[in-house]
Amino acid sequence: MTEQMIAAVYHASGDVRLEQIDVPKPVAGEVLLKILRSGICGTDASEYKSGPKIFPTQKQHAHSGHLGPMVLGHEFIGEIIQADEHNSEFKVGDIVASGAGISCGSCKRCTEGRTNLCDSYVTLGLNRDGGMAQFVAVPTSTLVKVPAGLSLDAAGIAQPLAVGLHAARRSGVRNGDKVLLIGSGAIGTFVLAGLKHLFDAEVTVLDFGGSRLERASRLGADHTVEVGPDATAQIQGIFGAAGIDVVIEASGAPGQLQFAIDLVKRGGSILQVGLPTTRQEIDVHKIVMSEIDIHTTLAHVCSQDLGASLEILGSTALAAELIEGVYPLAEVSNQLELLSTGKIQGKVLFDPSL
Ligand SMILES: [Zn+2]
Ligand SMILES: [Zn+2]
Repeated sequence: MTEQMIAAVYHASGDVRLEQIDVPKPVAGEVLLKILRSGICGTDASEYKSGPKIFPTQKQHAHSGHLGPMVLGHEFIGEIIQADEHNSEFKVGDIVASGAGISCGSCKRCTEGRTNLCDSYVTLGLNRDGGMAQFVAVPTSTLVKVPAGLSLDAAGIAQPLAVGLHAARRSGVRNGDKVLLIGSGAIGTFVLAGLKHLFDAEVTVLDFGGSRLERASRLGADHTVEVGPDATAQIQGIFGAAGIDVVIEASGAPGQLQFAIDLVKRGGSILQVGLPTTRQEIDVHKIVMSEIDIHTTLAHVCSQDLGASLEILGSTALAAELIEGVYPLAEVSNQLELLSTGKIQGKVLFDPSL
């Protein structure tokens, strides 16, 4: 086997280099994957633009021990080229999606099933070397087999869809609810897909006009509202006197959580998905007086969300609607630049064989 490989390595803000580095050596419990598709998301883009905030390039990660330049990539699928000798479930030649987040399985949160909150959680591509490379070593505990017949491109967005699906589970939405979803970028679209998969709910999507709202309509949004001076009136017209049961804030834009608090019905709930870059002021008085529940969501639970994502991708037009292009690794810096400046509306993937 090749001893060296090409990888996209993050050094600092604005500094991602294509480098020749050693092929990782799997330890016990891990397999070696040949990467077939690898994606980037808003987290990578913000680390590229204004990081490192979470990448352990300057400060050693408490659980992974990683310190220094790091291979990007926490959204990837690959083919197993070296199996774990103690695991009979995953064999050489299997095509698998990686959940990327590694949990210990034995801490209090893990035993409650909330593996995304594991005391020693480590995410590949965020806390240790990830999958924006020709090869990656990954624990079998984060892997799910890609169903036969699902295209590699579609399977390549399973991890971010799992994040959307987890958000939908955390939203408190019930069948019959009327939901307002703020934001229809990639994350909002994954949340919409999760909502439509799990619940019989009426979903109204709010965003700037144009292609993103049109895409939301094609993917099952019942109503769309364009951001503008009469957006609130339009929303009130759609929801009527019964009001909004659940507002899901997936834009991360400043002021949007307060906007959600202003809009949701008395006794309603809010799910905060987006991550504003600055501290947000909110009206606690209003929240209490209206008994509003505010929920949050983080990453996904591999065992619940990753397999389900692959099923959704096999039965919907989500991948065709969202994937804007598949590029060689040499394009990673350019695409991070485009993503961080808002020029990508969906998802881009990388194929190290290109
Ligand atoms: Zn991500
Ligand atoms: Zn744990």
